[in-house]
Amino acid sequence: MSVFSLPEQRLERALADKKPLYTHAEAVAEANRCLYCADAPCIKACPTGIDIPTFIHKIQTDNVKGAARTIFESNLLGYSCARVCPVEVLCAGDCVYNHWGRPPIQIGRLQRYATEVALADDPTLVSKKGAAPTGRKVACVGAGPASLACAGHLALLGHSVTLFEKKDLPGGLNTLGIAPYKLQAEDALAEIRFILELGDITLMTGVGVVEGESNDGEVSAADLLADFDAVFVGIGLGPDTFLDIPGEDGTRVVGATRYIERLKSDPDLSLKGIKTVAVVGGGNTAIDVAREMALLGVPEVVMVYRGTGSQMPGYAHEMHGARTEGVRLLENRQPVRIVRDEQGELLGLEVQRMKDKRPVTGAFEVIPVDLVAMAIGQSRLTGLAAAFGGVAVDAKGRVVVDPATCGTGNPKVYAGGDCVNGGKEVVNAAQHGKLAAMAMHAAFAAK
Ligand SMILES: Cc1cc2nc3c(=O)[nH]c(=O)nc-3n(C[C@H](O)[C@H](O)[C@H](O)COP(=O)(O)OP(=O)(O)OC[C@H]3O[C@@H](n4cnc5c(N)ncnc54)[C@H](O)[C@@H]3O)c2cc1C
Ligand code: SF4
Repeated sequence: MSVFSLPEQRLERALADKKPLYTHAEAVAEANRCLYCADAPCIKACPTGIDIPTFIHKIQTDNVKGAARTIFESNLLGYSCARVCPVEVLCAGDCVYNHWGRPPIQIGRLQRYATEVALADDPTLVSKKGAAPTGRKVACVGAGPASLACAGHLALLGHSVTLFEKKDLPGGLNTLGIAPYKLQAEDALAEIRFILELGDITLMTGVGVVEGESNDGEVSAADLLADFDAVFVGIGLGPDTFLDIPGEDGTRVVGATRYIERLKSDPDLSLKGIKTVAVVGGGNTAIDVAREMALLGVPEVVMVYRGTGSQMPGYAHEMHGARTEGVRLLENRQPVRIVRDEQGELLGLEVQRMKDKRPVTGAFEVIPVDLVAMAIGQSRLTGLAAAFGGVAVDAKGRVVVDPATCGTGNPKVYAGGDCVNGGKEVVNAAQHGKLAAMAMHAAFAAK
């Protein structure tokens, strides 16, 4: 598979865009509602600090390219962020209209309008402003949002960047994890094409960075330290974790992020014969996989959570969407066993009733299911981070950085995104990548 080719047959393609591109008239009408607040709270709520009133004003005055430039100055992943950001709890959540009980400005949809329309007209909108080559070389480990943002900002400053991505497709969870009704893999890849054109950026896919000595298709951490002026570690999180309960090993018990990845990219994944799915967990990944199953036509999707609905860590607006789409929540239940027949075929999920997150003695029940999706978290890739000597990892497995620069204990190594914050949003990863790029640029200038 070449870097940007996706199989035609992908389950995600059956899911429609929930917030389609505004028409020109819709965008201008929405932009007209903005009050251009002097001390705009929406800007403060954006992790990348996009000048929201300014870009909205540019849409209002028909300067769509100017609007896009304003967005990209702060966030080179402004297109995907427009589509995937949980704006309800970020910029739009802080819009002054909320105080008057009126709908906030649809900032995400306006941002999508500006970036999508402007780039369709001129894909070189941003790269034209790139600086002359500096001769400095940076390696980015991983090609997810954090590394892509870092690479893009460095390239615009004239530095040369090589992205090392262990998977065949770049983009990390932006390509292979985001709910398809927000962003499909091909749109995430289109954004990567735009980033790669920003300057001297080389993308190596299918090349993993390893702790020890490297084999074919690998490069070692030590080699990167020797061959590059700086290294950015944007490796995200590791594989899905499991509960370690009896019966878990075997068919039809899957990790949620891996399953979503297949749904977005594997032509062989089919939901034939799957009528009941149990999703274990109460976070955003659990809600996402449950919604995706329901929207793809699985008749019975039940989320199993050990606390009450109000204790779930997932966003309330996402859970509201899930309920609307027919997902059922089974609160106060802890899975204890996967029930299988003598041939090992999955029969059900045995759960124990909980009260105040404590098991109730003797209160067990079996939910008949065709598939169990475990969405209880992802592991940490601590070993690799630590292989870049001097890089500290905290007790929760997160790489420790200076929040102002994303620099680690090794002056040559920077890190950002999920591997630093333990798993947040694309926009946080984009901000880390930008901060690291600025700090590297300053460090190169000082030498
Ligand atoms: C199911 C799901 C849904 C989500 N939905 C949203 C959403 O709607 N909105 C939102 O804003 N955020 C969402 N997120 C979170 C968001 O996707 C992440 O915060 C973001 O992608 C983090 O970017 P990153 O670059 O740090 O890591 P990642 O996106 O994980 O990218 C890391 C990359 O590094 C690569 N890599 C790892 N180890 C190595 C190695 N040794 N060598 C080479 N490459 C390596 C990986 O293959 C991967 O491509 C979601 C997350 C999940 C799991
Ligand atoms: S808070 Fe709302 S109204 Fe005010 S500038 Fe931001 S988007 Fe416009």
